[in-house]
Amino acid sequence: MQLSPAVSSLKPSATIAAAAKAKALKAQGVKVYDFTLGEPDFDTPAHIQQAAIAAMQAGHTHYTPSGGIPELKQAICAAYEREHGFTYKPNQCLVSNGAKHSLHNAITALCGPGDEVLIPAPFWVSYEALVELAGARATVIPTTEESGFRLSPADLERHIGPRTRMLLLNSPSNPTGATYSTAQLEELARVTEKHKLWVCSDEIYDKLLYTGEKFRSWTTLLGGIPERSVIVNGVSKAYAMTGWRIGWTLAPVELTAAMDNLQSQQTSNPCSVSQHAAMAAVSGSQQCVADMLVEFTKRRRYTLDRVARLPKVSMPEPGGAFYAFFNVSRHFGQALPNGKVYRDSTEFCTGLLEEAHVALVSGDAFGAPGYVRLSFATSLANLEAGFDRIEKFLKG
Ligand SMILES: *Cc1c(COP(=O)(O)O)cnc(C)c1O
Repeated sequence: MQLSPAVSSLKPSATIAAAAKAKALKAQGVKVYDFTLGEPDFDTPAHIQQAAIAAMQAGHTHYTPSGGIPELKQAICAAYEREHGFTYKPNQCLVSNGAKHSLHNAITALCGPGDEVLIPAPFWVSYEALVELAGARATVIPTTEESGFRLSPADLERHIGPRTRMLLLNSPSNPTGATYSTAQLEELARVTEKHKLWVCSDEIYDKLLYTGEKFRSWTTLLGGIPERSVIVNGVSKAYAMTGWRIGWTLAPVELTAAMDNLQSQQTSNPCSVSQHAAMAAVSGSQQCVADMLVEFTKRRRYTLDRVARLPKVSMPEPGGAFYAFFNVSRHFGQALPNGKVYRDSTEFCTGLLEEAHVALVSGDAFGAPGYVRLSFATSLANLEAGFDRIEKFLKG
């Protein structure tokens, strides 16, 4: 079939594909230890669910303004001010169908053919595809394990050319969990300001930080750089609300209006009921976030200890999010205890799934060959059983 060029070069999301493989094995009755999907295993907190039920019963089941209801925009701006001390007005806020949609809006509204977007690797699976869908070009900047997978100001500057339009930054990072200190962020901001680059800062893991340092939002750097900043965030990760599909951007008024136009033609509004649930999430008690963080902190500690015990595996300590991204390349090209030889991360993950029934995502999907991603957003019991199997796979 003749498909459009934009769509025919598109690959399905690699994390979703890896999860599908694990699901297929489960459907055959096999017990699979699945660490592929990047979502909290917790239920959405009860007060948020109640807000959705109340919204339905109050008749909030109709179209809303395309960019979201004013009360939610107000609530998001108030939360941003409370958490970051920086004021955005509701006309600088656009509510969308998840942060992924927000990213697509921002990239499409700012970038087109001839533009280059800088993406530090390892990167979240959808960044490259979203840039290419907009007709722009993704320029990947590799980072090293030794640097903790952090982009250095010198590497950033070296990759800026006349067509560079935007930097896509994600801290804490999916897949590596890497975080930047305020000083490191400000060094990067000096470079992007010098070259007048837009920065799209994906801050979806801002509340899942384990370093003890306070999260620093991009806009607030260098005394405030709102002119060329797009902040992307949402309720999926912090409030265990992946299925509700609510994300947002905070951006200049003119850009927000353009993205609203785009969204009004694409999808009309984000789900009315979910918007009311999101309002309860951002303006209600934040105790649920703290409680989930306590659990994630235990799981992270356990994960770090178990990864450290794996033979010939290395990993910089993740400062945020809920992933362990570790180097398994020292096992390539030589027989493992099962007698099989794997040449790359994708083969390694396939072997691990088929032989040990443990599902991880190959680093190839994140622009980082030699690595694998494990999501620790799952129970300690599941992690324990999974790591026992990974250990046996590597040690015999
Ligand atoms: C999960 C995730 C998103 C998308 O979140 P949704 O709001 O569910 O669309 C965006 N960026 C990163 C880095 C993520 O891990």
